[in-house]
Order: sequence, then C-alpha cells, then structure tokens
Amino acid sequence: PARTRFAPSPTGFLHLGSLRTALYNYLLARATGGQFLLRLEDTDQKRLVTGAEENIYDTLNWLGIKIDEGPTVGGAYGPYRQSDRSEIYTRYINELLDKGLAYRCFCSKSRLDGLRDSAKLLKPPTTVSYDRHCLKVYTKEESAAKAAQGEEFTVRFLSPDKYQEFNDLLHGNVNWQPQVNPFDKRFEDPVLLKSDGLPTYHFANVVDDHLMKITHVIRGEEWLASTPKHIALYEAFEWRKPKFVHIPLLTTVDNKKLSKRTGDIDIMSLKRQGYLPEALINFAVLFGWAPKRAQGEKSNEIYSMDFLEKHFNLDGLTVGNAKVDFQKLNYFNKHYLQQKLQDPEFLDRASADIYAKLNQDRGITQEYVKKVLVKTGSSLTTLDSVFDESFKFYFERPTYTRKGLENVLKPGEYGVVKLLAEQTDFTDLKALIPRIMAVYPDITKKNIYQTIRYAISAGQPGTKLPDMIELLGNEEVIARLNSLKE
Ligand code: GLU
Repeated sequence: PARTRFAPSPTGFLHLGSLRTALYNYLLARATGGQFLLRLEDTDQKRLVTGAEENIYDTLNWLGIKIDEGPTVGGAYGPYRQSDRSEIYTRYINELLDKGLAYRCFCSKSRLDGLRDSAKLLKPPTTVSYDRHCLKVYTKEESAAKAAQGEEFTVRFLSPDKYQEFNDLLHGNVNWQPQVNPFDKRFEDPVLLKSDGLPTYHFANVVDDHLMKITHVIRGEEWLASTPKHIALYEAFEWRKPKFVHIPLLTTVDNKKLSKRTGDIDIMSLKRQGYLPEALINFAVLFGWAPKRAQGEKSNEIYSMDFLEKHFNLDGLTVGNAKVDFQKLNYFNKHYLQQKLQDPEFLDRASADIYAKLNQDRGITQEYVKKVLVKTGSSLTTLDSVFDESFKFYFERPTYTRKGLENVLKPGEYGVVKLLAEQTDFTDLKALIPRIMAVYPDITKKNIYQTIRYAISAGQPGTKLPDMIELLGNEEVIARLNSLKE
C-alpha cells in the first residue's frame, strides 16, 4: 500500500496542474489500499494568499478527492500544517548541527548579495554562490554562543561534495551536480532554517515526508532539480528514501508552457463556468497517464473516478509533455452532463439553477425549463449552454431579419407566414401542410417546415421541429409567426 501526499503551498488557488498532482497521489493510494495525506506547506509566510487554504480544501472536496489525513481531518502523524510544526523542525535542525552536517550562517544580506553577483561573473556563471565563510571562521561553540546572544542567523546544510545519483520512476537514473568552477570554491549549502525560525521548503518537506511515512512522492517536474538536495538530506539523517515520480509539465496543444492566459486556470473558476467534477477528473487524469490497452484497442477515454480508484497505476505514466486541450474538456463535460441529466435529482437542481438565471417576466415555469433540458441535454456542453444562440430561443423570441426569411421563402410567398399564423394547431403538421399547399401550390413541404422553424428560432438548426413545437406549445408558435409577419 502506498502512503502518498499532496503538499500544496497556500500561495494561490488550486489550478489544473495541482489538480493532476493531487489526483495521481490520491489514486495511487486508493488503488493500492493505502492512505492519501494533505500537508499544507505554509512556511513561506511572505507568499501566503488569503483564501488559498480554504480554496484547496473546497476544491478537493468538490472534486471528490477524499483526504485520509490532513489539517481538516487530523490523523496520527499531525499536525499537518507546517506552520504548526516548528518545534519538530528545530529538533531535527539541532540534530544536524550536532552532527556537524549543518551550520549557522550569520552573513548579512549585503554580503550574500555580493556573493551572488560575483558568482554570476564566474566561468561558467553559477547560482551556487556561498563561500562557506561562517563554517570556516566560527567554531561550533562560537557559533552557538553568537546564537545564544540573540544574533540573527540561518542554518545551512553542509552539502556533500558530490550529489548521489537517484532513481526516478519516470526519468530513470538522474545524476545532477551543481554547476561550479572547481577553482573558485562555491557551495550550494541550501538554507534549511530561515532567520524567522521557520524551515525552508526543502527541509520541512523531507522531514515531514519521513515522519509521515510517505512511500511515494509524485510531484511536478519543476521539483526534479531539488531532489538531489532532498536525497542528500535523507542520507544525512540516514533515513529511508521514498520513491520519486516527477510528472511532466503541462503544455498547450502547440507545446508551449501552460500559462494563465493559455488556460492554467483555477478549478473553482472552471466550476463557475459549468464544468462538472467528473469531467475535470477525467480531463486531468489524462495529462500524462493512460490505462493499459490491448494493441489496436480503441477507447472513448471515458474514465470514472470509480474506475480510476481501482485501476490507476504508475505503469501508465508517460514522460512526454502533457498537452491540455480544452476541446477535450468540453467533450468530457458533454458526456457527463448528458449522463447526469438522467438523474431526476440532478435534473431538478439544474432546472432550478437555470430558472433562477432567467428573465422571470415571460411566464416561463421551472417545469418548462426542465423539459427544455431533457430535450436539449445531449447537445449541451455545459448547463449554461442553454443560453447559447442555438438554444436561447426556448426562453425568448428571436430577432428576425429580412435576409433570414429570404433564405426560406421567395418574396412572392411571404403570404405563407400570414396563412400559417392563422392556423391553430401545430402539433399535427401532417394535417396542416395540405391546407397551406392548397393556397400556395408551388411551395414545398420543406419550405413550410423551414418557415415555421424560422419563426420559432430564427433558423437555429439542431433540434427537431416537432420537438420544438411540443416544448413551446401552440400559442407561442402562433405568437412568433404573428410577430414574424409584422
Ligand atoms: N509545496 C510544494 C508545492 O507547492 C510541494 C512540492 C512537493 O510535492 O514536494 O508544490
């Protein structure tokens, strides 16, 4: 059984990329009978965004991603909010300090800035800039005494001379070393504890993954370069390492990095646009994963949460970039919307929703809205698509144009509209046609149908004419023919 975690920082709302990360971790836990944890990585106090934490819980909850352990549900390995775990980190920092595997750094910001600038001028230029000044000039005792006197400090990791090669389940063996000029002694020595007494991401992340007994770390590829540092920390503590899986970045259909503008949008705003949780799950799970299929086997790519909770596995992951194609989201949403509209309770709620958004002065009832949804359901992308051009004639009279009518009738035939408006029953078209043709022998049955359709919807294709008439009712059809006549 896998113990996995989703470890978001509350620095923004939950987006498509984090949805996929959360989902893969959740599904691996479910499929293996393990646990899925939520750990809030909120130690970077400057970057906290109000509402972000709530947004993370609400979004997962809405999507049906259930948390076994986390800030909202508790668990045996809590607290699950890193800002509540300060004492734990201090304990482990002290262990590294004692072992001489970490040291305090008292350097001023301006000194560190200077080092950073000079490192950029080296050949090759590097971001690895620290010169281990504080390790060299202070003994352990001096360093402890300075701290005891209240001097401000950070704690740095004494990085190994060489980072270990490690295995990533997707990327294979990864051997990554910092880029440094061997003659100019610079070291990565990442800060583990900041001067505000809170740990950095690297430190808290490793300590917690260990203490929370995480077996698999599935996260975005942007963290791959941090993993050698994490491995070195596991080594320093002599802890057993979890398995690492770095999943590919999300890109647009034409292979550009997904940005806010190109669709890296937060999930709750997709919810507001009418996307269903089932569709979003189905959409996101395919960003770099597919179930094994027999060769040549076609698939409609419809995967329910139920199916995924049983069949998700790491073998189905792919290394290539994951393309985000919103047409697919529409395809999935259409599928699930149609399915859900079969459920009377969903249909009731949906009708109430749409009804509430309507202009109430037209005498439209909620029952009528329901009938429209039943008839049009299979063509709707989201519920709100009933307000699109192709369906909104159900709720309001269309605007007619001379040109539109010319497409249906020749100028000499406009009298047909008047004649139609004098009819009383449109439910029996078969009986009605001969009456019209008796007056206008040159007109075809098709012309008559098209004229009625034009009066009803200004020519919107899609829905069958008898269905349109049935929904709108005789009175409304006659009223529309009358207003077309004018
Ligand atoms: N807090 C990190 C983030 O926001 C977690 C990265 C990880 O999963 O290790 O993405």
